Amino acid sequence: MQNLEPRSVLVTGANRGIGRAIAERFLAAGDKVATIYRSGDLPDRVLGVVGDVRDSASVDAAFTEVEAAHGPVEVLVANAGVARDQLLMRMSDEEFDTVLDTNLTGAFRCARRATKGMIRLRRGRIILISSVVGLYGGPGQVNYSASKAGLVGMARSVTRELGGRGITANVVAPGFIETEMTAALPEERQETYRGAIPAGRFGGVEEVAGAVQFLAGPDAGYITGAVLPVDGGLGMGH
Ligand code: NDP
Repeated sequence: MQNLEPRSVLVTGANRGIGRAIAERFLAAGDKVATIYRSGDLPDRVLGVVGDVRDSASVDAAFTEVEAAHGPVEVLVANAGVARDQLLMRMSDEEFDTVLDTNLTGAFRCARRATKGMIRLRRGRIILISSVVGLYGGPGQVNYSASKAGLVGMARSVTRELGGRGITANVVAPGFIETEMTAALPEERQETYRGAIPAGRFGGVEEVAGAVQFLAGPDAGYITGAVLPVDGGLGMGH
């Protein structure tokens, strides 16, 4: 789908996995796409600013650079995320804090910075990449699921605060998606997980990208504070 007016889109962590597929999807629609990234290479035509979502000054500087090149960010996709799985009793403060700081506080830093321009524009789309585990829970994932559940509260509070200013805030909650992370799981574990998914398969990164693009597009202007699962039915009933 080609957009009439190219928009300034910022996707965090677009160097690989789901973030990369999201960036490619917006590029294909004719948007101006930028990313805050730490390492690796980027799709052609993505404006990359090296930065770290755990650092407010770094996020601020990256937004300033992106705004100078592409104009105010109209679509923010907070995708950057990490996992440090560990059983609760063995989980260190560092494992808990790192995951919260990246997945939850990182999204907050980006959303806070993005809304400055969105309020002036009187429009904006904020899409937070959560996980099925946020509301479903996962053993060994107390840190990760807490961070991903927090994104739901964040999107809904942003909606109540800024809904009247043409800004929407939604959550996309992927299930098991074929990425480096899931490919690294032993085949036996992959089979067990597949058996629990009504669709009987893992999802593709492009299926998550499609959901994100929909929420950023003209048909989703009245959808806000929502959680859109892309999980083959794994978490239904959330
Ligand atoms: P990857 O591990 O492949 O990619 C994560 C991305 O986040 C990388 O680009 C990484 O950069 C970036 N990142 C991590 N920490 C920071 C940081 N401090 N500052 C800037 N960028 C950072 O993950 P996926 O593509 O699989 O996942 C993307 C999102 O989707 C994550 O939020 C994840 O939790 C979520 N998700 C993934 C699922 C899956 O099955 N794959 C399922 C449900 C949710 P770098 O390469 O430099 O490390």
